[in-house]
Amino acid sequence: MYFMCEECGEVFAAEDRKVIPNGGGDIGEDWCVCPYCGHDSLAEVEQCDDCGRWVDPSELYCGKCRDCIDTEAEDIEQVKQYGDHAKVEVEINALYYKTFSPSEIDELLAKAFAELPKEKQKKYCLDLVDDDPYDFAEWLQED
Ligand SMILES: [Zn+2]
Ligand SMILES: [Zn+2]
Repeated sequence: MYFMCEECGEVFAAEDRKVIPNGGGDIGEDWCVCPYCGHDSLAEVEQCDDCGRWVDPSELYCGKCRDCIDTEAEDIEQVKQYGDHAKVEVEINALYYKTFSPSEIDELLAKAFAELPKEKQKKYCLDLVDDDPYDFAEWLQED
C-alpha cells in the first residue's frame, strides 16, 4: 500500500511512514506522518499501469487512470471494435428490420458514422467510453 502526502506531494510505501508512538502524547494509538515533511494528511494512492501517475484507488479502471482511458478512447478504430463488443438492443422500423439483416444495418450505420466530422466521431467515442469506463478498461485488458 502506498500513500501520498497531501502537504508535500511525496509518495511512499506504508512501511516508510514515520510512526509517532502514541501520537507523541496520549491519543491511544500510533500516529503515522509523512517521512519527508511530517504532515499527517496522507491519502492512499495507487499507480497507473500506463503513465505511472499516482491517483486515488477509486480513480483507477483496471489499473489505468482516467487520462489514459480517455487517450485510448480517442482511438476511433479501437472504440468501433469495443462498440461491437458492447452491443445494445434498439427498436427499429419494422419494414427496415424485414429488409436488412443486423449486419447490413451495422454496415449502413458504419458508413453514416464514417461520414461524420472526425471531431464528432471522437466525441461519440469518448461519450460511449464514459458510459462505463470499467467495461472499456476490462475489454482493453482482454484485447
Ligand atoms: Zn509530506
Ligand atoms: Zn495513466
